[in-house]
Amino acid sequence: MKQINYGTYQKPSDYMKFDQGDNVIRIVSVGAFVKRHGMRTAGGYIPLGDCTEKPDCKFCNEGNKAKQKWFWIAYSKTRKEVKMLDAGPQIGDAICTIARNVGKDPREFDLIVTRKGDGLKTRYSVEKGGEEPIPEAEVAGIESMKKYLVHKYIQQGEAPQGQE
Ligand SMILES: [Zn+2]
Repeated sequence: MKQINYGTYQKPSDYMKFDQGDNVIRIVSVGAFVKRHGMRTAGGYIPLGDCTEKPDCKFCNEGNKAKQKWFWIAYSKTRKEVKMLDAGPQIGDAICTIARNVGKDPREFDLIVTRKGDGLKTRYSVEKGGEEPIPEAEVAGIESMKKYLVHKYIQQGEAPQGQE
């Protein structure tokens, strides 16, 4: 149980959300690609499901275009929480490009994700941060939260439904 703080309240989610300005995160899993179907509506976005990437995909056959997504489990040093990072191209492609350019796995360095704007006007930029190891005191908590997410979303195959 956690006490609710009404002043900072946000609906709980397993997906990483970014505060305005700089957020320091560390990737704690391998990365994955997924192609995802969904529909934009007046009220927001309705996720339909993952693309099978085969001719039998019913959403492709209905003419829905799948969106490329990038997935990791990440630790937010800013918020002190481990979440599913469900990224679109602004964040996903940036993380992979930084990792390629520095020749290191993104688990070996921090990333600084800068958020500007809200809703459909939200823009993200990503820069490489420091390479200090995660403090010993935080490692066990991170591993335990990561196990929970792996079990819930990866082993059970529950369709991830976040958004960038
Ligand atoms: Zn499809």
